[in-house]
Amino acid sequence: MRPSILFPLFAETRTLPGVGPKLEKAIARAAGTRLVDLVFDLPVGVIDRSYRPRLIEAQAGRIATFMLNVLDHLPAHNPRHPYRVRCSDDSATIELVFFHPRTDWLARTLPVGSQRLVSGRLERFDTKLQMVHPDYILPPEETAGLPAHEPVYRLTEGLSGKALAKLVRGALDKAPALAEWQDAAFRAARAWPSWGEALQTAHAPARDDDLLPVAPARMRLAYDELLANQLALALIRAQMRGQKGRALKGDGHLRRRAIAALPFALTPAQLRSLAEIEADMASPARMLRLLQGDVGAGKTIVALLAMLTAVEAGAQAALMAPTEILARQHLDALAPLATAAGVRLALLTGREKGTPRARLLAKLADGEIDLLVGTHALFSDDVGFRDLALAVVDEQHRFGVHQRMQLQGKANTPVDVLVMTATPIPRTLALTAYGDMEVSRLEGKPPGRKPVQTRVLSAERLGDVIAHLRGALAKGARAYWVCPLVEESENSDLAAAAERAQMLTDALGHKIGLVHGRMKGAERDAAMAKFKAGETNVLVATTVIEVGVDVPEATIMVVEHAERFGLAQLHQLRGRVGRGAGESTCLLVWHAPLGETAKARLKTLRETDDGFVIAEEDLRLRGAGEFLGTRQSGMPQFRLADLSVHGELLAAARDDARLVLLKDPDLKSARGEALRVLLYLFERDEAVRYLRTG
Ligand code: ADP
Ligand code: MG
Repeated sequence: MRPSILFPLFAETRTLPGVGPKLEKAIARAAGTRLVDLVFDLPVGVIDRSYRPRLIEAQAGRIATFMLNVLDHLPAHNPRHPYRVRCSDDSATIELVFFHPRTDWLARTLPVGSQRLVSGRLERFDTKLQMVHPDYILPPEETAGLPAHEPVYRLTEGLSGKALAKLVRGALDKAPALAEWQDAAFRAARAWPSWGEALQTAHAPARDDDLLPVAPARMRLAYDELLANQLALALIRAQMRGQKGRALKGDGHLRRRAIAALPFALTPAQLRSLAEIEADMASPARMLRLLQGDVGAGKTIVALLAMLTAVEAGAQAALMAPTEILARQHLDALAPLATAAGVRLALLTGREKGTPRARLLAKLADGEIDLLVGTHALFSDDVGFRDLALAVVDEQHRFGVHQRMQLQGKANTPVDVLVMTATPIPRTLALTAYGDMEVSRLEGKPPGRKPVQTRVLSAERLGDVIAHLRGALAKGARAYWVCPLVEESENSDLAAAAERAQMLTDALGHKIGLVHGRMKGAERDAAMAKFKAGETNVLVATTVIEVGVDVPEATIMVVEHAERFGLAQLHQLRGRVGRGAGESTCLLVWHAPLGETAKARLKTLRETDDGFVIAEEDLRLRGAGEFLGTRQSGMPQFRLADLSVHGELLAAARDDARLVLLKDPDLKSARGEALRVLLYLFERDEAVRYLRTG
């Protein structure tokens, strides 16, 4: 349960004075529904009111403040014209301009003959100085009411900057003083302010520098957020690993048979990863390991050998893929090796239904199936194993910590979990999303691969692309042609893809296939199968081929509207070719206009083929918020930390979290108590539940 000291921060914004339903909605759009959301909504700009020149030397365009004498009022004759108030200092005159003003208010606020402190953006209109709707008009005795600097927040409709700033102030006033959770020496070394001071400072910028993510107040707040993230993950990991797993040791007889059936030797990277996995499996603690490797790095065989170890130990293993296509492909890849090893392999997807499904489930429960490959269907309630010991989850950047934990419900004892991801994730991000796991990296590629020639062309050269394709097809090549889903309406996109397929059919005279996301599973698989079998030579696709599809004969990848894809996506697409013995080409076709970032992305792809380098560059270009897109990526979203800048803090936070739990696993010390509050502050309530004592 959330500690009571945080209650004021988690109060709804409607508890702030003057916030009614309409304003509440506007605040929700701008920041969120609770005071803590306002407090964590840091300013994006600063208004400096320290510029106080004489009128005659004032620069137009700047925010300026003047002490003025009110000369006269010039009401508008026509309601479409503004109301003007002429004022002066000892050097020149200026007109204050008001559209649709309340005249009684103007008379009261700017009485003729009075002196007023006026602040706002100065403009020059013809030769005249003017200020439209000044931000401040104060009588001389109230000049202290003019702030020297004001924070600027991201604006939403229905909420003025001034109103939002006032609300944030109100929320800040409610922020409680909290006991320090940072390590004292660490904080002293960096000369960071306390949490409360950091919040105040971050919301009171005086210069542009104060807005930088590296400003001390912002660094401190970012660190707090990262520490909460890392501590939560460390707690989850401690809990998962603390559960007694089982020591899975094989005698190697199945693995030997599978390896003997391989047409190649395992690479050193594969052997090293496999050794790491097998050591985890053999230990009585639970395995939670991430196998990171670029597309085509050879993860599947590593997974299979690990699964065979489980079978050698007398248990079962499961492999879960994100899509049906991939599950089937895994089945096809594993079947010959399973046969060679003499183990029983089966497939379970949402498409297995009725009697066949019931029969399969019965076999699974009886232990007549050793290895099960499937999709999410593996999670269904009616799926029961006789003795599941290892779960492998493929391409899993789509899932989060929670789904990983769901797996453990499938077994009597906690299963060992191996996650494979082909999306190379920058080290920093891997830490935030997979900080609860150990990591094996499959760097490089199996020998014999030729690098894919990558060319970047404008759509004006589509004719050249088609000519190239024609030449290659004549020599028996196979090609992918990707048309992304880009329009608002999926239908018009599909129409565009279908049209492209038709155009290519006309232009090339070859058999052209089409796959898209709206196809039924069976239809899509049939189209894929035809391409794989060479019955079609070109496969036009929306991005459904993105993940894991393996057709070694395909040597050409054309991506239209390449400027609309993220780097990681393009890299994944390119990874579909260059999988066989032949020379492969990737043609990235861009349609104008080509923005700076898109240009940088395409350049990166032309220059490197290393998924990890590409991922780091992607992070740099897009920032962590956008990396891998959205919430459903399973990546945590940060409000105060920006991983493209604060990556170094993340590593420190990880070490900090590990050390804390080593010394104080139940968070019982004074610092431990403060850290519990930190976890609640960043809503990692779930992690607190893993503490043995609440
Ligand atoms: P990933 O799953 O990492 O994308 P795969 O496991 O599908 O990669 O492997 C890609 C291709 O490389 C497959 O055709 C596989 O048979 C082959 N392969 C795997 N390991 C090796 C190796 N050590 N030497 C040569 N080829 C390999
Ligand atoms: Mg794969």
